[in-house]
Amino acid sequence: MKSKLPYYLLLLTFTLIISPLFAASCDDELFKVLVNLEQPKTFARLQSYSGNWTVILADPVEKLRDKEQNKELSRSVSMTLGETQDVLITLSQKGLAFRAGNMPESPFEYKRIIFKGGDLISVTFPPSAPMLFEGELSFTKDADNFSIRLINQLPLNRLLAAVASQEAFSNNSQAVKAHIIALRTKLLYFKRNSLHKAEGVDICNQRHCVKYQGIGSNKTLPEILVKHTANKVLTYKNQIILPRYHHTCGGKISSSESVYGIKEPYHIAQADVYRHGEAENCMHSPSFRWLIEINKSELETFLSLSYASGASYLYTSWKPEQINNEERITSVKISGKSSKIISGIEFLKKLQKFFGSKSFKSARFKEEVMSRTLQYTGKGEGDGVGMCLYGADGLAKKGKTTIEILNFYYPGTEVKTNY
Ligand SMILES: [Zn+2]
Ligand SMILES: [Zn+2]
Repeated sequence: MKSKLPYYLLLLTFTLIISPLFAASCDDELFKVLVNLEQPKTFARLQSYSGNWTVILADPVEKLRDKEQNKELSRSVSMTLGETQDVLITLSQKGLAFRAGNMPESPFEYKRIIFKGGDLISVTFPPSAPMLFEGELSFTKDADNFSIRLINQLPLNRLLAAVASQEAFSNNSQAVKAHIIALRTKLLYFKRNSLHKAEGVDICNQRHCVKYQGIGSNKTLPEILVKHTANKVLTYKNQIILPRYHHTCGGKISSSESVYGIKEPYHIAQADVYRHGEAENCMHSPSFRWLIEINKSELETFLSLSYASGASYLYTSWKPEQINNEERITSVKISGKSSKIISGIEFLKKLQKFFGSKSFKSARFKEEVMSRTLQYTGKGEGDGVGMCLYGADGLAKKGKTTIEILNFYYPGTEVKTNY
């Protein structure tokens, strides 16, 4: 009888060595990111910094016809953009106009212009500074606000390195790894739950999503630690979560329920203190305490501009309606001829939009009325829910590991690989 040993050996080799190579890795998943700028974009200059880029001029607005043979020509045109070569894209009446280097502008307008296959490309929307991108770029016309729309597609690990660099707050590897694992989980949560499905992307670079302006500001430590934490995510009861985090809590963390009205068992209220009697983990943050002073008239202008809707709805004053146990204002009453209640976090966003993002850093503040001015003393920066990033840095300084940091800020969660 023939031995079956070689067969089993083969099977064992496949199971142990080959098959893990086929396992899907979330870090390789492609993400489509909508890259917004403050102002509408009507003009872009692109230059290949590295590698040859294939440029596809897709979907001409007018159908291209070969007059002699009287037949429709191919709908897309493709060309190569070599290193140092540049092209211009301009918003036109019906789509996008395109011009390569010193060539005359193409007489056609296109609905979509795609760049792919190269290594690194610079994109400038004057007067903004150039941004550097990898992966695939797709330019279309945004009909709503007369602007060029840019979508960048790149693998999760590259997006992660870029966003982690933009949000970088610590040089301590254990804290940076905790941040990267939370960020990877957040990005996957957005994608898995199709929160941006309507716009045809997975995520955008506005405040409610993540900071992303290409890979030009990437830093060495996040780049390396993305690899060291490859495919690691935070789960609760085997489900991927939306881990919330913020700059500085100011000593006390609030639950997601009290700030957002959403009950999440891993976003609890707790002191940002590892062991009773110790100092707050984020005490070294520049935003641990803050103070600003504004003129009384500025506050009136803010209220009337931010909340006015017709003369009978002119609001002239505000006061906290509810303050939670961690001293955060969770709802606000604004009054004039009539009054209305709004959430503390919405009120904070309006304050920051009007006075600047570094003015009222959190909803944890008190007002003192002076003769002409109003003085606000506050603690922390951000919503105060989930991981306090400066606190994570403080814990890492005290010798805590990535897992200990994550377990502290997201109790009950588990770090798993590939979800
Ligand atoms: Zn978004
Ligand atoms: Zn803190």
